[in-house]
Amino acid sequence: MSAPIRFTSRSTSLGRARLGTLVTAHGTIETPQFMPVGTQATVKSLTPLDLRSAGAGMILANTYHLSLRPGAERIARLGGLHRFMAWGGAILTDSGGFQVFSLAHLRRVDDEGVTFASHIDGAPHRLTPERAIEIQELLGSDIAMTFDQLVDPGLDASEVEEAMERTHRWAARCLAAHSRPDQALFGIVQGGIDTSLRRRSTAAIAGLDFDGIAVGGLSVGESKDEMAATLDAVAEELADDPRPRYLMGVGSPLDFFGAVEQGIDLFDCVLPTRVARNGQLWTSEGRLNLRNTRFQDDAAPVDSACVCETCRNHSRAYLAHLFRAEELLAYRLASVHNVTWTLTLLTRLREALREGSFVKLRGEIRRTFGAGD
Ligand SMILES: [Zn+2]
Repeated sequence: MSAPIRFTSRSTSLGRARLGTLVTAHGTIETPQFMPVGTQATVKSLTPLDLRSAGAGMILANTYHLSLRPGAERIARLGGLHRFMAWGGAILTDSGGFQVFSLAHLRRVDDEGVTFASHIDGAPHRLTPERAIEIQELLGSDIAMTFDQLVDPGLDASEVEEAMERTHRWAARCLAAHSRPDQALFGIVQGGIDTSLRRRSTAAIAGLDFDGIAVGGLSVGESKDEMAATLDAVAEELADDPRPRYLMGVGSPLDFFGAVEQGIDLFDCVLPTRVARNGQLWTSEGRLNLRNTRFQDDAAPVDSACVCETCRNHSRAYLAHLFRAEELLAYRLASVHNVTWTLTLLTRLREALREGSFVKLRGEIRRTFGAGD
């Protein structure tokens, strides 16, 4: 049986940064790479063609949302998630852990799993490591994730540790339950912002036979320094582990640089599309808020350096009008641009790693996006 994914990477002259190639049954992805988030089997307001044009090769979909609606068994009957959403590229599904602990109501956690009330209609549901794997096998994603327990890193060290230990037990159960040979499975490192817990968690997860290692529980309110120290501890513990490394839920322009320096290969984040729908566009001039009155008479494209459909055809003034009139096209045009811009930034970042100009590019993004990003 051939492996569900193949990952090769080489080190660069910059810290722990690496350049890699991830081969999946649904395409080859150059790393470091960003995955747009398609929570409900759609990256909000974008078609699969929009995603392709933006340069997306792999997207993320959410187990929690899809299992509640329309249901994993239904998607399986309809041919699996790729066919259901007409996306021919690669798909990574999360395990639902993050949403259960951030969205659902009336949670009750025990060693077997989590019982919760749906955020949609309050109906009771139960998610266990085995069920989280079963759902992802029904969806048929290229990469599945283990079911983990997320906690607020600000909690007592004993509570963070207890959740981490449970995450390790659940990781082993996920691995035992996983049976689909054409699907990869990544383990998730937890442990809050305590570097000694993070080291222990990294050793525990990396010691299991996963196809990749994810870092969870970050970008949840900790400081930039805390995130950097945590990633440093994880990277040191992983040393020369050859498997792909995925930093979950991180994707602001400046965050990419510090994480890539620590050897992260994959990112996902709702930020580019979420801020787009609020009228915030990311450009070579930094952030522009198209709701600002100064754009109502601005005939320039959103970003003259960008080749997306929005920038080739439309002015800032037109987008400013669409946002003010609350026209639906505003959300699509803004999302097309932000996803294209983000994926182009990752392309530039990989080029910079190849050419030794990473520090220069990081300086440029720091100047335009501000160190406080
Ligand atoms: Zn654009």
